[in-house]
Amino acid sequence: MDYRNLIDKYGSPLYVYDYDTIYNRCCDMKEFSDNLSKKLGVNVSMHYSTKANGNIAILKIIKNFLKVDAMSITELELVKRAGFDNKDILFVSNNISSDEMKYVSSNDVLMCFDSISQVESFGKICSGKDVMVRINPGTDGVGHSSKVMTSGKATKFGICESNISYLKEICSLYNLNIIGVHMHLGSLFLDDKINNYIEGVKTYLEIIKRNFSSLKIIDFGGGFGIDYNGKENLSLNNLKDELVNVLSPFLKEYSGVTEIKFEPGRYIVCEGGFILGSVTSFKKENNINWIGTDIGMNVLVRPSMYDAYHRIEIISSNKDIISANICGNICESCDVLGRDRSVLRPNIGDIVKVYDAGAYGFSMCSNYTGRLRPCEVLIKDNKDILIRKRDTLEDILNKYVY
Ligand code: PLP
Repeated sequence: MDYRNLIDKYGSPLYVYDYDTIYNRCCDMKEFSDNLSKKLGVNVSMHYSTKANGNIAILKIIKNFLKVDAMSITELELVKRAGFDNKDILFVSNNISSDEMKYVSSNDVLMCFDSISQVESFGKICSGKDVMVRINPGTDGVGHSSKVMTSGKATKFGICESNISYLKEICSLYNLNIIGVHMHLGSLFLDDKINNYIEGVKTYLEIIKRNFSSLKIIDFGGGFGIDYNGKENLSLNNLKDELVNVLSPFLKEYSGVTEIKFEPGRYIVCEGGFILGSVTSFKKENNINWIGTDIGMNVLVRPSMYDAYHRIEIISSNKDIISANICGNICESCDVLGRDRSVLRPNIGDIVKVYDAGAYGFSMCSNYTGRLRPCEVLIKDNKDILIRKRDTLEDILNKYVY
């Protein structure tokens, strides 16, 4: 792949996705769910979490293998445009308005609610429907940062066991039928955290047994991790075996479950995407080398938001290696992509590559400090295809109507 050509053709910075990598990850997920399904004797559905990457071209690849989750009206419309069937979409909501509820419900898409208050709001406008509810098992979350741990006593997510009897009262008042429950412990767990994940699963299953007698759907959320060091991803085989160990006895005891769901996002798209940018400055101050680039925190927010690690490469004709901090072009001191990195000494204009940016990369982009969101390009059969245009100045200026 000729990176210089891509930058010359599409501008800098840009997101680049590799069709084959995403396709292969979809195959992994399909194999995981098929194997689990065979072992458990129940349907296992993988709902790709659109929040990780909602580009329609990417969704179209995924649609051949998996179902999908949406979390906003925009995501719902994106997945519909990618061709997902209503029955294959789960709307996982968090503090949405009544108008959003009406909109999603009019699309005949199953919705999962995160609080009794939201269930009640929904009941007032759409009584008599099937719903799912998110349970907070109360165990510690699993995740790469405290900011993405979504279980436990300190998070905003889900309904605790002590409130389930009130949830049921509200559901019977509005004639809502709880057909499924949901949990999501956090984002990005690897093999060393499978035990914690399984502990959360066990607690969740106990809560289900104690409080619900006729659920059809049990959703275990996402969080399947990839290794940003480029080494070992979560072992899906180990995870499958561990899940079989806890789910088999549960399903023998608890009858009526017709579908088990998972909601992986990152695992499918993360390694299939990278960012190409350019070196815009180089300086040494206070004995620190600083490489300035056009990949600001508006292009990739994960390092500044979560202290997330991404491998970074400087592609240069220089041969000597230096240790440097690599930063973006936004006036914030947290706008640093990586610190103390061993990279080639750069020339101005050299290419910067940031790895594993296919998930929570473009989907978290912003126009902060008026910067334009980059374009997205898909590489398929050695051809580059523009799959989303770069923002233009007019896109931003046209919004101002007064
Ligand atoms: N499901 C829910 C409810 C989520 O909030 C998220 C992400 O935070 C996911 C699924 C996807 O998580 P991941 O991309 O880590 O698999």
